[in-house]
Amino acid sequence: MLEELDALIRISEIDAKAFRADTELKEIPERMGELQGDVSKLGELLESERQELAEADRLLTAQEEEINRQSQALAKSKAKGARASNIREADAVERELEAIRRSMRDREAERETLKAAIEKRRKSFEKHEKEFGELKAFAAKEQEKADSRLAELEAERSTALAGREEFAAKISGAVARRYDLIRTRRGGSAVSEIKGGCCSGCNMAIAPQQGIRVQRAETLEQCPNCQRWLYSRQALADEASEASADH
Ligand SMILES: [Zn+2]
Repeated sequence: MLEELDALIRISEIDAKAFRADTELKEIPERMGELQGDVSKLGELLESERQELAEADRLLTAQEEEINRQSQALAKSKAKGARASNIREADAVERELEAIRRSMRDREAERETLKAAIEKRRKSFEKHEKEFGELKAFAAKEQEKADSRLAELEAERSTALAGREEFAAKISGAVARRYDLIRTRRGGSAVSEIKGGCCSGCNMAIAPQQGIRVQRAETLEQCPNCQRWLYSRQALADEASEASADH
């Protein structure tokens, strides 16, 4: 087999591996970014829920203070009633007392409604707080996994690329440049196997004369449609058995 073709096939295998690692190396940080985004979004929602709850608690305290003030006013009016010296005065005090009692009943009813609403909100807040804690723990675990996977991928990538130079030295500069160009245009692959007389990269039928040249593997043959370099599995196998026979 032409040494340049063999080198192209090896480089293509190496690049395919590195390409997979590159894809994952890009995807993982993106996915983690989304997850962290979810965590902070939920954190913000929880914080505003916490503030609303604190606000409702302050309202309840104010309501209770108001009820206390009214209860003091009631005591004062009662004392006034005890000092009333005639019926007119006593009636006036009685009306005052009735007004205070009515207002207190209203406040107390409001307080109960508020208490019930706060209770409900507190439960929902606690549920969300728990969910937030779980999401944070999940995100931390995912981050840990992501970090170790990233390290693994970096190692895989540099291992995969380690042998590349040796093969890259065997191809001409023009072929190397063309290789990069085709690879960029064709989604990461610049070499394809010929299968059933077709280019497996684009499925184009290859003319029989060219098919024979691919089989002989003595020249660099490009698919007329997608420009990928073609090779046959048979030629590769022959090359491998020749190589082992030599040793
Ligand atoms: Zn093709």
